[in-house]
Amino acid sequence: MLPYDGHVMSSILGTSLDAVFTITDRGVIVDANPAATQMFGWSREELLGANISIIVPSPLKEKHDGFLRAFSPDRGVKHVLGSGVRLDGQRKDGSCFPVEVGISSFVQGEKRYFTGFVRDMSERQQAEDRMRFLATHDTDSELFNYRGWAASCRVLESGLARVVVFRLEEFRHLSLLYGEAWSITVLREVASRLRDFLCPGETAGRVREDTFAVLLPESVAARTEALAQALAKPFTQGTMHFSLTATIGISHGIGDVDRLLRAAQWACDRAGNGKGQINEFTDQLYQISRREYQIETQLQQAITEEALSLVLQPKVRFADRRIVGAEALVRWSDPALGTVSPGEFIPIAERLGLIGRITDWMLRRSLEEISRCADTSISVAVNFSALDFYQPHLVQHIDTALRHARADPHRLMVELTESVVANDVRLVGERMRQIKALGAAISLDDFGTGYSSFGYLRQLPIDSLKIDISFVRDLPDNSDAVAIANAIVSMAKALGLDTIAEGIESEGQASLLRALGVDQCQGFLFSRPVPPADFHRLVHTQQEGFPMAVDPPLTAATSN
Ligand code: C2E
Ligand code: MG
Ligand code: MG
Repeated sequence: MLPYDGHVMSSILGTSLDAVFTITDRGVIVDANPAATQMFGWSREELLGANISIIVPSPLKEKHDGFLRAFSPDRGVKHVLGSGVRLDGQRKDGSCFPVEVGISSFVQGEKRYFTGFVRDMSERQQAEDRMRFLATHDTDSELFNYRGWAASCRVLESGLARVVVFRLEEFRHLSLLYGEAWSITVLREVASRLRDFLCPGETAGRVREDTFAVLLPESVAARTEALAQALAKPFTQGTMHFSLTATIGISHGIGDVDRLLRAAQWACDRAGNGKGQINEFTDQLYQISRREYQIETQLQQAITEEALSLVLQPKVRFADRRIVGAEALVRWSDPALGTVSPGEFIPIAERLGLIGRITDWMLRRSLEEISRCADTSISVAVNFSALDFYQPHLVQHIDTALRHARADPHRLMVELTESVVANDVRLVGERMRQIKALGAAISLDDFGTGYSSFGYLRQLPIDSLKIDISFVRDLPDNSDAVAIANAIVSMAKALGLDTIAEGIESEGQASLLRALGVDQCQGFLFSRPVPPADFHRLVHTQQEGFPMAVDPPLTAATSN
């Protein structure tokens, strides 16, 4: 008969949700509550007298006996006591599950006993596993998310690696169109293709809504090609068959994955080779992108602090070589960035939504300057961006600027590139008519580079066409350029429009264009774009009876 008398204890622990075992210092079970029988699947009769190792899985089981003995009173029983030890338990059917064990000890008679409180941690463990999964995975695709991917890369990272990033171009748009279920199915399919593609040591994740990253520990170009092929296969959803364009960015080198990922994303975003292609990150791309980034950060401040400036390039009438107008061009010189050309910062301003502020400022300054010019036949052409034209308040803005500067509306020419028109002929036509109603004129810039059709040019209230610099550049010797210039002039004449040629640098170009019947010209041959004071001086000189010099010493020093 065991000296242990557990009647009182048994009735107290009968209702406990935790399994409670009482064992001797040799590990023999002398008591087990109902929860213990439920949790482990043994009957009370089976448990009593058995060794506690009955509920312990291998290899812990083998250690367990020794473990208890090792903690016999004389060898430091205190170490075994306490709570919160996470272990595995084993049921009668052999299945294992996580448990948390708390042990206390007491002495009855001459003997020491241990009582173990065993809590089933399966649910908690599952919840914890789920939380860990959610923190490192994307639930839609079940691939790693950025955090998980980066962490798994760090484990795999060694030496040279290639990070491949791909963006599914149509994904965002189509997921808005077809909804959540569509997106999830596509994402799962992409994930499944990625899993088929991956070799040991490679890892993939979804790092943005429409962007995925793959770490290839070796820099092998063929793997990227294989990935592109896997993604190029059509997708099927129900009766719907479609393809998605994967734009790929790659970077390779030795370094932390974050840096490689950013570089690959950079290459993907810039898509120098085009969308749907493989775009490699290069140092040159990095330098360009860095500068773009600096421009992005400085531009807003430059606009606010009026650090931009305006230059005027004379427009000259071929017939008598007199200045009849000017094109206003924006200039920006930043202490850190140096001179930033409008070709660089105008597209950035458009992307950042800052273009309207530049146009407003240029319009205001141009009208101020032209009002200062005593010869009222001289007009100023201001460049408008496509985005300006889609602003609902465009016409009011122009009207306000004219009133503010007390400028004669007839002295303003709105210049917009031909490509603007093609986007929405009806809307652009409407805006043009409203601008014309104010009294301003309209000129189509860079003509010949867009897709204007004769049909809609007829419908638009345009005053002049500006032959693009690219056709002028190849004159007078290139017969194709001559034919194009000739065709543009003939078409303009048929439509009753004036023609202006831009970018004239040589007398050869000038005389040919004049012979073709071009009305006005603009180019370094006559003058570079100059600060307003220089422009006014040029106008003043001609008022005194001097026509525009062919090789003007006045402008040779300016490099605008
Ligand atoms: P654009 O409107 O076609 O302006 C003509 C460009 O040709 C100007 O370049 C001018 O400096 C340059 N140019 C003039 N004559 C010659 C020449 O004989 N040879 C050569 N090689 N180039 C010549 P810029 O000032 O660098 O401007 C480039 C483009 O940036 C402009 O092309 C225009 O599209 C845009 N831009 C300039 N200022 C503004 C502005 O205030 N607002 C907007 N929205 N765009 C502007
Ligand atoms: Mg222009
Ligand atoms: Mg142009």
